[in-house]
Amino acid sequence: MPKTKNLEDLLVDELKDLLDAEKQLTRALPKVARAASAPELKEAIEEHLEQTKGQVQRLEQVFEQLGKPARGKPCAAMKGLVTEAQELMEEDLPEELLDVGLIAGSQKIEHYEMAGYGTVRTLALTLGHKEVAQLLEETLREEEAADKKLTAIAKKYVNVRAMNVGEQEEKEEE
Ligand code: ZN
Ligand code: FE
Ligand code: FE
Ligand code: FE
Repeated sequence: MPKTKNLEDLLVDELKDLLDAEKQLTRALPKVARAASAPELKEAIEEHLEQTKGQVQRLEQVFEQLGKPARGKPCAAMKGLVTEAQELMEEDLPEELLDVGLIAGSQKIEHYEMAGYGTVRTLALTLGHKEVAQLLEETLREEEAADKKLTAIAKKYVNVRAMNVGEQEEKEEE
């Protein structure tokens, strides 16, 4: 009979999912940064790419502390979110609108990560893994900050800039 999973195994499963999700992002974010036009947005994505590489290392540290091999398990949800972002980039949108879409896709990704890290942080605390919980909390804070930054960039610049894009084209045709 297969061994029954316990709470610790569930924590490790969730961590494997996050490790794969972060690794997918280290491959996808360079393309998203290249597709972005607004310099502030491009920089924010590049900055978060570097953070993401650190998050992979932080997860590897977590596995080490738990005495488990740092092996990912394919995260289908992140694959779907990345696919949606790729589909948007293939849409041939004016750059102002593409930036809005890239923020939308990126914020969905950040929220998925926030859900994942919040859960494993709390599970680690329940299981008494204080240092692990601390590491996961650090990443959670980074994801939250990245999400807030995207909202700020949208409000200050990217959404405003995109507001009249379709209208202007109509006027030119008249
Ligand atoms: Zn444990
Ligand atoms: Fe991340
Ligand atoms: Fe997942
Ligand atoms: Fe992130």
